[in-house]
Amino acid sequence: MTRPSGGAGYDSAMATDLHPDAHLPSGNVSALGERISFVVFWAIHWVCLAAIWTGISWRAGIIAIVLYFLRMFAITGGYHRYFSHRTYRTSRAFQFLLGLLGTTTVQKGPLWWASTHRKHHKYSDTPEDVHSPRHRGFWYSHVQWITTGDHVVTDMRSVRDFAHYPELVWLGKYHFVPPLVLAGLCGLAAGWSGVIVGFAWSTVIGWHATFTINSLAHVFGARRYETTDTSRNNWYLALLTMGEGWHNNHHHYMNSANQGFFWWEVDLTYYLLRGLAALGLVWDLRKPPAYMLERNLVGRPETAPEAAAAAQSPADAYADAA
Ligand SMILES: [Zn+2]
Ligand SMILES: [Zn+2]
Repeated sequence: MTRPSGGAGYDSAMATDLHPDAHLPSGNVSALGERISFVVFWAIHWVCLAAIWTGISWRAGIIAIVLYFLRMFAITGGYHRYFSHRTYRTSRAFQFLLGLLGTTTVQKGPLWWASTHRKHHKYSDTPEDVHSPRHRGFWYSHVQWITTGDHVVTDMRSVRDFAHYPELVWLGKYHFVPPLVLAGLCGLAAGWSGVIVGFAWSTVIGWHATFTINSLAHVFGARRYETTDTSRNNWYLALLTMGEGWHNNHHHYMNSANQGFFWWEVDLTYYLLRGLAALGLVWDLRKPPAYMLERNLVGRPETAPEAAAAAQSPADAYADAA
């Protein structure tokens, strides 16, 4: 669906130029708050073991499966393809809903997530990369880049296109509230089994599935495109993460709402985005131009400055200006 104008993320592109960095909200976090986040991260892993006592009820199992896919979409369709790369447009209300759902994954707020991810693309597999297995080792790229506390501050300059929405800043500041509410709702729906299996299991599995794109998708899989990083296309990861496993495609052309570039590359997130577009909730889904599909294929490297410029996302443009 195409609309003549509008779209929360896009309109802001004009407004951001008028906002000097001094007016950006702070992206700092308190030392105590960060320590608590670190403890909570590992505590939720240990809490999963409590299923020994609570058991696994059918209701809790169904909640876990639904929450896994719903919240994986919040990361892939929301935090990644919308907040980080702006590959489609939506309303301010739906933008908030995507941000709210994203916080229930316990991966902090949308601005922190997008700012660190934009940095990943800006410095892919260089020493400045946030989570490169090439430079910091596999375990660092998978989980330690979070647990070491090296990247806790939100670089508001790199997300200035979204930083002037107070509701998104609020989600970042109180990112622990939505998961707590969700855990409580799981408890009401299915008792302690609902909290442990329905919420904690799906949260931890969702974390590690997400993290595989930072770690495994830069190590295992095939490379269709000659990119300057180590990104790979990996079938298994694409199924696990609803389409994010086509990571070499994504590093080749990050402006696109679809990461599976061909019909056989299953991309559940994109199918859902198409469904939301049919309902009028999102619009202007971007796809790669035909010539980009053929550019810089492995074994046929070419350099085309105009193609390289086209491949750069608006997100990078903001990051470069930072
Ligand atoms: Zn990305
Ligand atoms: Zn990557």
